[in-house]
Amino acid sequence: MATDESFSGKLRVPEALTFDDVLLRPKESRVEPDEAETVTNVSKNVSLNIPILSAAMDTVTEAELAIEMSRQGGLGVLHRNMNVDQLVEEIEQVKRADELIIPLETVVTVDPDLTVREADELMEREGVGGAPVINTRGEVLGIISSTDIRPHLEVAEDDPVREAMTDQVITAPEDVSPRKAFELMYEHKIERVPVVDDENLLVGLVTMGGILQRREYDDAIRDEEGRLRCGVAVGPFETDRALAADDADADVIFIDCAHAHNLNVIDSAREIKAAVDADVVVGNVGTREAAEAIVDFADGIKVGIGPGSICTTRVVSGSGMPQITAVAEVADVAAPEGVPVIADGGIRYSGDAIKAIAAGADAVMLGSYFAGTDEAPGRVITMNGKRYKQYRGMGSVGAMKSGGGERYLKDDPDDEEYVPEGVEAATPYKGSLASELHQLVGGMQSGMGYVGAGTIPEFKQRSEFVRVSSAGQAESHAHDVVITDEAPNYSPDS
Ligand code: 5GP
Repeated sequence: MATDESFSGKLRVPEALTFDDVLLRPKESRVEPDEAETVTNVSKNVSLNIPILSAAMDTVTEAELAIEMSRQGGLGVLHRNMNVDQLVEEIEQVKRADELIIPLETVVTVDPDLTVREADELMEREGVGGAPVINTRGEVLGIISSTDIRPHLEVAEDDPVREAMTDQVITAPEDVSPRKAFELMYEHKIERVPVVDDENLLVGLVTMGGILQRREYDDAIRDEEGRLRCGVAVGPFETDRALAADDADADVIFIDCAHAHNLNVIDSAREIKAAVDADVVVGNVGTREAAEAIVDFADGIKVGIGPGSICTTRVVSGSGMPQITAVAEVADVAAPEGVPVIADGGIRYSGDAIKAIAAGADAVMLGSYFAGTDEAPGRVITMNGKRYKQYRGMGSVGAMKSGGGERYLKDDPDDEEYVPEGVEAATPYKGSLASELHQLVGGMQSGMGYVGAGTIPEFKQRSEFVRVSSAGQAESHAHDVVITDEAPNYSPDS
């Protein structure tokens, strides 16, 4: 910081560090990495089972990836290069995935006067193996399944459904729990249970397939109603989008701005926070002063001015903060107030992610790490025999043309000549998100093991950094060898 009046005083500058500048000092430990617990908070009221978020970028997080993130215990943050109606649809997709009770609007039902053939065709067309039979009031009269209409049961194709259906229907009340629904199905050897209200009117359906799918994801993060959690990015001045996301039951709203220490942004973020029920994470910031300006109202603070892989902010604007120092400065302010900190951008390896936590972050956000997965938007392209997926900065020309300019406080619709702060690129194709997360979290747990910390809060307290020279950095990477087999968690290119 320049402390004297002269220009040369400006040259007495503090140092700021990033991932490659530091390593975790190994410590005495009894913690086996597999046993290290990764539960953390992304915001004051929302906890995660793994400290990982996917970036709100149009080549990273749409519903498909958000669903998988949440099933694996992290959080996907939907990007905002889509109109508000599309966003609401995407939020609903996340919320509906793995829902215990399939809501009435999406349940396939059958009229008792249809013929068996018509019912069979309907169920085949809709891809279901059975359906509740309801009258015009919505009362459940029976249930029909493919087993009821198999030819050997001597039901004629032209018989009405009311004669072929099972009329001794097992139903469940609206507040049925996953365990109770499972017990009912197990006891009665049935695949689906209509959910009814006090008047026996159909309100939804529970299926065995749905229950088993939920069981597969026991680390999933869910809201109070058992639905997957969902994060949403909104522009700093997009109150309408924030309200729509809140109405659609988004769990965490991220004020998505490249420079949240802009005072107009803070005023607007404060208003959005006051207007919504969801937690509001504010970002991005990179300094102590910025954290001080928002810590009183933010439910979480996101850190990162220019560390992203596709980001050119630092070269274009000459401004930014190396990420380890940025996270540590913000955490100094936020941690005593109980406000979680998210380190956003620049993470290439699991080691970077756990260093960010050591610097004071509660969770990390990644873009490039996930852009090459199956669940990310976009198709796989092949170049020179290698497979890639598109990955572009939200401040790149392409993304800004699709509506992302406001993040960079450049959203003049009449301005055709963008000054971008990001690039459009391709990233290697990687396969499933679940296996990427497995590597990422496994590596972070190793870091916790080396430091002897069994939980994230303990790790934050116990970890210490050592400063690494450029020789030390070279020593850290694979060296003096030719790599013959690719490791799933390391590539010297990144
Ligand atoms: P990555 O994980 O790829 O290193 O960084 C992802 C993060 O970079 C995003 O979460 C976001 O904060 C930031 N980001 C995304 N697009 C751009 C861009 O075009 N310019 C800048 N400055 N940052 C970006």
